[in-house]
Amino acid sequence: MIIDFHTHSFPDAIAERTIAYLTERGGIKPCREGTLGSLTDSMKRSGIDYSVVLPIVTHPKQERTINRVSVENNGKNNVFFAGGVHPDSSNADETLDAVKAGGLFGIKFHPDYQGVEFDDPRFLNVIRKAAERGLYIVTHAGWDVAFRNHVHCTPDMILYVLKELKGLIENKLILAHLGGYDMPDEVLQKLIGAPVYMDTAAVLRLYPEKCREIILRHGADKILFASDSPWADQKDYVEIIKSFNLGKEAEEKIFHKNAEKILGI
Ligand SMILES: [Zn+2]
Repeated sequence: MIIDFHTHSFPDAIAERTIAYLTERGGIKPCREGTLGSLTDSMKRSGIDYSVVLPIVTHPKQERTINRVSVENNGKNNVFFAGGVHPDSSNADETLDAVKAGGLFGIKFHPDYQGVEFDDPRFLNVIRKAAERGLYIVTHAGWDVAFRNHVHCTPDMILYVLKELKGLIENKLILAHLGGYDMPDEVLQKLIGAPVYMDTAAVLRLYPEKCREIILRHGADKILFASDSPWADQKDYVEIIKSFNLGKEAEEKIFHKNAEKILGI
């Protein structure tokens, strides 16, 4: 079984223009259209059994709609959804209660698109509230292709958050892009062995040998297979992981066992 823990899709009405905007802004090319239908097509082509869609709340006003759409679609067509809360939310408690009551496994943060650094008190506040409700917290980590001048979630910021929320968020935090997009050396130096999951989204083609090293040193128990589709091809990413020759047991953890535990399936 294979679960892709990090994908994106957008409601049909806005998928085309959202993808066009993100393509232009990040200077990257999508591997499929942005709709949910194109995600399930890609899953069939790639031998992926389940995918997780991670929407991003870029403004507090979007919380209600994004979480409603996530709850409505969660679990249908073998696709699970995260919810979201903005660090500037005026009603984070109510938003996170709705995420929890809706049966979502967790929430997604993107500090770059949310315009707040990950170690900011506003983030600590919403992370604490999410963790108290037993929700998982997925965050973009490292550079973002659309924000090339400033990193809003560095390994140091992650270590600070782990320290500040000690006893509350161990093994609840999931760092995208193997702990930091385009900063594998700093990840190797600072985050290996920390009580965090890391997903493999978007980085496997950039520096495959460093990725393999991060996976081996951080340990298969804390790695989640992920592509970042449409920004990478699901099938291609399956093949790269297989090419790492991590052994059957490690592959099973990375491809689905760890994700099953988090999703409760
Ligand atoms: Zn992503």
